[in-house]
Amino acid sequence: LGRLYGPVGTLLNLQVEVATALGVFQRIFEYEDMEPEVANRPGAQKLPPARGKVTFQHVSYAYNKEKNALHDISFTALPGEVVAIVGPSGAGKSTLIGMLARLYDPTEGAVTVDGQDIKEVTLSSLRDQIAFVTQESFLFHASVRDNLRFARLDATDEEIESACRQAYIHEAIAAMPEGYGTMVGERGHRLSGGERQRLAIARAILKNPRILVLDEATSHLDSESESHVQAALDELMRGRTTLVIAHRLSTILTADRIIVLEAGRVAESGRHAELLQHDGLYARLYRTQFEKVMA
Ligand code: ATP
Repeated sequence: LGRLYGPVGTLLNLQVEVATALGVFQRIFEYEDMEPEVANRPGAQKLPPARGKVTFQHVSYAYNKEKNALHDISFTALPGEVVAIVGPSGAGKSTLIGMLARLYDPTEGAVTVDGQDIKEVTLSSLRDQIAFVTQESFLFHASVRDNLRFARLDATDEEIESACRQAYIHEAIAAMPEGYGTMVGERGHRLSGGERQRLAIARAILKNPRILVLDEATSHLDSESESHVQAALDELMRGRTTLVIAHRLSTILTADRIIVLEAGRVAESGRHAELLQHDGLYARLYRTQFEKVMA
């Protein structure tokens, strides 16, 4: 495929590379050679504009025959609710959030959005209505502006700047050698972990979907970036159905529901206070992972 140049060319090239971005999301799971296993079903319809009710109905998933990564997961997030996923390393948190983007289809059970089985809708209509903010936001070798516009091709420069202000990244961009025109990505201006994360948040704000999927890891950030990222995430989550791998204390304290995963199963679920009272796995995780954050 020939490369096109100039602003329009850059955007077209970005669109061509969108397919690659999905590969990048898979890389979060550290299995780069994974074959994409989902495809549109014959006659798949578009998902109508979502209200944002997300349901997992007895979802199981196995990467291979040896063992299930997820077993019989059921929960509902009503429109606008925040569901926090916590659990030890390897419990299945990334696999679970990946199911909502249809990186994988359930081996058993179904994931529905507004009651519609997501296996039955086109991948693009599903992914258009979900924003992902993960530890690995992908940067194309293009200007900061085009990296943002990739979230919504018809966004104006003003809308891009406004999203960046809301994501607390505008000032960092303005201070770059050529502002929004600065080339980033491969061989480009290097962004810090916190800047990349806030750029991903700005993209999500531009996309403005009803459903958000977040992986909150913020551990590599210094405390100033961390507080900016926190503020930006809190703003972003407001009013959107959010499935979040939670690492921040404020997220678990305010979540409408916490799903505690252990070896692919729901060990416990409920709100923070109930789970603490239950004094099980959550209470132990809370003491080791979250409570020290307050110290
Ligand atoms: P962490 O907190 O360490 O990121 P996690 O809770 O997100 O872990 P997952 O990454 O979802 O856990 O992994 C769940 C299980 O599935 C683990 O046993 C993992 O080794 C396995 N797994 C994940 N991806 C694949 C894959 N592509 N192929 C085979 N097994 C996989």
